[in-house]
Amino acid sequence: MSGADADRVAPHTGPDGREPAPGSAVEILTPRDVPLGGPRAMTVRRTLPQRARTLIGAWCFIDHYGPDDIAETGGMDVAPHPHIGLQTVSWLFSGEIEHRDSLGSHAFVRPGELNLMTGGHGISHTEVSTPGTTVLHGVQLWVALPGEHRDTGRDFRHHVPGPVHLDGAVVRVFLGSLAGDTSPVPAFTPLLGAEIVLEPHATTTLDTDPSFEHGLLVDEGTIRLDGTPLRRSELGYTGTGNRTMTLTNETDAPARAVLVGGTPFEERIVMWWNFVGRSHEDIVEARQDWEASSDRFGQVDGYPGGRIPAPALPNATIAPRGNPTRPKGSTR
Ligand code: MN
Repeated sequence: MSGADADRVAPHTGPDGREPAPGSAVEILTPRDVPLGGPRAMTVRRTLPQRARTLIGAWCFIDHYGPDDIAETGGMDVAPHPHIGLQTVSWLFSGEIEHRDSLGSHAFVRPGELNLMTGGHGISHTEVSTPGTTVLHGVQLWVALPGEHRDTGRDFRHHVPGPVHLDGAVVRVFLGSLAGDTSPVPAFTPLLGAEIVLEPHATTTLDTDPSFEHGLLVDEGTIRLDGTPLRRSELGYTGTGNRTMTLTNETDAPARAVLVGGTPFEERIVMWWNFVGRSHEDIVEARQDWEASSDRFGQVDGYPGGRIPAPALPNATIAPRGNPTRPKGSTR
């Protein structure tokens, strides 16, 4: 489906007219296919941002990809490119990606391991699937930094969460707290990120922070979120005020999902290319700095090739975006 079609789907209805369960406040966000470019062009399924929603907590970008046979797709080979104002989370289900950045980090991203890169004022990095990888399958997530920390220094963290075994489910918490486990990796806003694997036909109820909103991205199987069925690559959104979340695997095989959450991000942001700013001017400046090879982004060592040039800016001024809700205290 094209991006335009996906954006036309009403946020409360699935692509085939499925409705949330009665009484459920689950909003179904459907993906659109986005080619990442390159000779054979790996394609990702993007659920955030989209017209119906810009952010879930501080999570501002969700790309789901694979399982891809990289003999066909060519795998991942992303040359040096910049980021500002955000953190990137790479989480794999299979395959391996070699990461290098201008902080000097050199890491291998493997299944079940958190790799969190903080862009802050400016960073650049490369991501290349390793020669031993045959199937590439995972998610790339971005976290918007709050205004007071968006110019923070570069950082890179690695964490391997231990599995939390529940009745019918296994949970791995890579950011925040869930199911009695807490990630040691600090966040700039209250945040949750976790992988959940459900046994066939299992149901599990998780305690959730009522000050958080949540998004459940289904990777495999069909999962009922508080009664509303979500298919592969769909993102189910629930707002604040919920103390529990009930997940049911509808299928005869294990089902897997990634759960993200956080307190609603009250700032409006401008997202363009690899940048998160607050204004059109922030974006123009970051683009100029990248094109001028400014020290702002540093250098990535060890990548055999050139850097990715910034695309042309749109003719119009890029307007800041927030979620389609009114600010606190607004009477609409
Ligand atoms: Mn990147």
